[in-house]
Amino acid sequence: MILHGFFGPTLAPKNLATTLSWVHFRGALVLILLCAGNFFCLSCPFILVREAARRFFKPRRNWPRMLRNKWLSAGLFVTVLFVYELFDLWSSPWWTAWLIISYFAGALLVDGVFKHASFCKFVCPIGQFNFVASTLSPLEVKVRDQDVCVSCRTKDCIRGRREPASGLVVIQRGCELALFQPRKVGNMDCTFCLDCVYACPHDNVGILTRVPATELMIDPMRSGVGYFSRRKDLAALVFVFTFGALLNAFGMVSPVFVLEGWLGRVLNLSHEAPVLGMIFVLLLIIEPILLLGMAAWLTQVWGGAQRAVLPLVVRYSYTLVPLGFGVWLAHYSFHFLTGLYTFIPVTQSAVASLGWAALGEPYWRLTGLPQGAVQAMEFGFLGLGLVGSLLVSYRLATEDSARHPIRIFGVWAGLSVVLWLAAVWVMNQPMEMRGSILGG
Ligand code: SF4
Ligand code: SF4
Repeated sequence: MILHGFFGPTLAPKNLATTLSWVHFRGALVLILLCAGNFFCLSCPFILVREAARRFFKPRRNWPRMLRNKWLSAGLFVTVLFVYELFDLWSSPWWTAWLIISYFAGALLVDGVFKHASFCKFVCPIGQFNFVASTLSPLEVKVRDQDVCVSCRTKDCIRGRREPASGLVVIQRGCELALFQPRKVGNMDCTFCLDCVYACPHDNVGILTRVPATELMIDPMRSGVGYFSRRKDLAALVFVFTFGALLNAFGMVSPVFVLEGWLGRVLNLSHEAPVLGMIFVLLLIIEPILLLGMAAWLTQVWGGAQRAVLPLVVRYSYTLVPLGFGVWLAHYSFHFLTGLYTFIPVTQSAVASLGWAALGEPYWRLTGLPQGAVQAMEFGFLGLGLVGSLLVSYRLATEDSARHPIRIFGVWAGLSVVLWLAAVWVMNQPMEMRGSILGG
């Protein structure tokens, strides 16, 4: 992908870097998260390079305490969304190749200096996306039998398995993301690396099924994560995840160009960056603060909740995860499915450009599924997201020791419905066929 990005065709739909990154990878990612779990992190190519490098040098430092949260990664998540729009990354093989390289370099640099999986847990924006989305996955890495853990003396799943003779040399590392299996709850922060599975001497850890989203409805102390209800940084990540989904989809429909043009004229700005920056501030900061602040205030004064506004915002922010994921699913699966087969002619063309005729002439007429069918699926995903958010809202409201739980449910359900209507409106607009030959 990197080589084709630099030396292949400059037209995005004919280049492997752009086609695989922006059409296939993103679509496959969300569908796998929906149907299985965080298998992208399991097979992450950036970590491969890190592992190779760690054979030669060992990192000695711990990740700085003040950065042991999601603020940095949430900021990087926003940065990626911003850069994507500003530089039209989807249409530039060259910039896409640089993005892939900078990702490799970032992972190598951070994990070359700092111990454990600091890049995955505290830096990687894709990883954070996967962590939040995988709260809705049907699979989880967890213990089979808690009683076995109670009688376990070694706790290798976290400490790592050591050489029996010396007891010093680690022959299989334990969880590098500080998730202690018996007290791990849900998929948050789990990269599905399976180190704990291999380390456990009792074969007591596996990839097991569970009911999606249940981890959003409870608030126990989670190993390596803490209480969801006390994590302002995690709530901020959820806002970026949810409102970023709407913003990213909004960036592809024609009203955004009207808005940009209008803002540029009114503020007399000729560069795109400040105008885009204002749209980001409006939709990613001001809008969430107003909507969630108002919902939390109503929860307090109308629903009779005892907590202050900010803790209410944090606690109920998790109700938005299913809806946010529904929007990402609808958006990315649209590009993925309408451009499903495009990787075939692009690969044929890349191979042919090397002088090998083995794959034949590129068959450029191969595109994907019909738009009508995909659109029906899009609205199905949005509906699924809304139902998920309503269920989480109901559970959180009824578990809150407030006077009027049904009113509280009404408030947060109302917020989900408003955002769902916004998503339906965006998805109903004609979408740019980014990265596919249809929009080439
Ligand atoms: S998961 Fe395995 S290693 Fe970890 S505490 Fe349980 S039995 Fe012990
Ligand atoms: S070691 Fe186990 S718990 Fe830790 S990230 Fe890997 S799969 Fe998840």
